[in-house]
Amino acid sequence: MEIKATKPVMPLFEDYVNEIRSIWDTGILTNNGEKVQRFSEKLKTYLDCENIDLFVNGHSALYLAIKVMDLEGEVITSPFTFVSTTNAIVQNGLTPVFGDIDENYNLDPNSIEDLITEKTSAIITPHIFGIPCDVKSIEEIAKKYNLKVIYDAAQAFGTKINGKSIAHYGDATMFSFHAIKVFNSIEGGAVVYRNSKLKEKFELYRNFGISYGETNDVLVSGINAKMNEFQAAMGILNLSSLEQEIAKRKKIAQQYINTLKHVEGIETYSYKNNIEYNYAYFPIIVTQKYGRSRDELWKHLKDVGIGSRKLYDLLTCDYSLYQNCGYVNHIEKANYIKKICLDMPMYAGLTYKEIQYICDEIKMYRK
Ligand SMILES: *Cc1c(COP(=O)(O)O)cnc(C)c1O
Repeated sequence: MEIKATKPVMPLFEDYVNEIRSIWDTGILTNNGEKVQRFSEKLKTYLDCENIDLFVNGHSALYLAIKVMDLEGEVITSPFTFVSTTNAIVQNGLTPVFGDIDENYNLDPNSIEDLITEKTSAIITPHIFGIPCDVKSIEEIAKKYNLKVIYDAAQAFGTKINGKSIAHYGDATMFSFHAIKVFNSIEGGAVVYRNSKLKEKFELYRNFGISYGETNDVLVSGINAKMNEFQAAMGILNLSSLEQEIAKRKKIAQQYINTLKHVEGIETYSYKNNIEYNYAYFPIIVTQKYGRSRDELWKHLKDVGIGSRKLYDLLTCDYSLYQNCGYVNHIEKANYIKKICLDMPMYAGLTYKEIQYICDEIKMYRK
């Protein structure tokens, strides 16, 4: 048996062909065409938000979300993330200050206040694995110290807190619609933001800084980060199956939990009642009681055809590029978790038998 770590969500081929047919009539492939506009409206409704802009991918969305806020100095962030979060901070000329993580794998609010200096301008941090940060505590701190909050919700599209979309928190929230996220537009990204005055800036920065008028003057040094019509077509179709996708993932998570609770030394995340998760990932913790290390288990699973992922075995502050960049303060928990966390295969098409096979292998390999 061969089981991959992830598989992209795809609509029916015929549905995609039907959706993109009109692009051949209009000849409009990109530059805010009809499909991007329709996708944007659908997302607004789904996320129940006022301001949203779409981008070619999540990274440029995050990069520009930071850019339009004109931040300076230091930014408090979590090192337990995909490199994009830290890259986007550094590419904006800001200094990352790394805090520790909590039991939710996210920036620990208790680690933030010690890191604040007069140079701190923002908290920019992910909702890792689709699990929300402690948004309430983070925003209390941000308010107290007058800091901006930008969430990297690349992995959290579809997650809700107390029935409200995760997009409702922070000054801005970035989503990624990359192929292997819970929801994809092949590649793609979005930013939801509070201050509607930022719209003009997002549009400028997304398209080379060009202000269309009589002279097509250039006002800022922008990039090209526009979503195209083929991406939007994929997004429109996949959005209509998102709730089913998440429901299937939830069932898979439940099967994992029910089966793995009988394996000593393996711990699964304790989901909370007030949160609707998107089940983007299924991280397990390999404790000492298991008798084998996380790395040994990863290797064993690989040998029997199961793709698990060591997310994140390197913190972003461990990368050679970032070892001497920014400040790292007491990140004991992050340094501990990075050695024992393993992400299990997770996608809607996983069968009951496949999950059983994965869990059996984990169980048999125990020492
Ligand atoms: C995927 C991801 C990104 C980048 O999104 P892309 O759409 O791939 O550019 C950023 N941050 C996190 C945490 C991610 O998982």
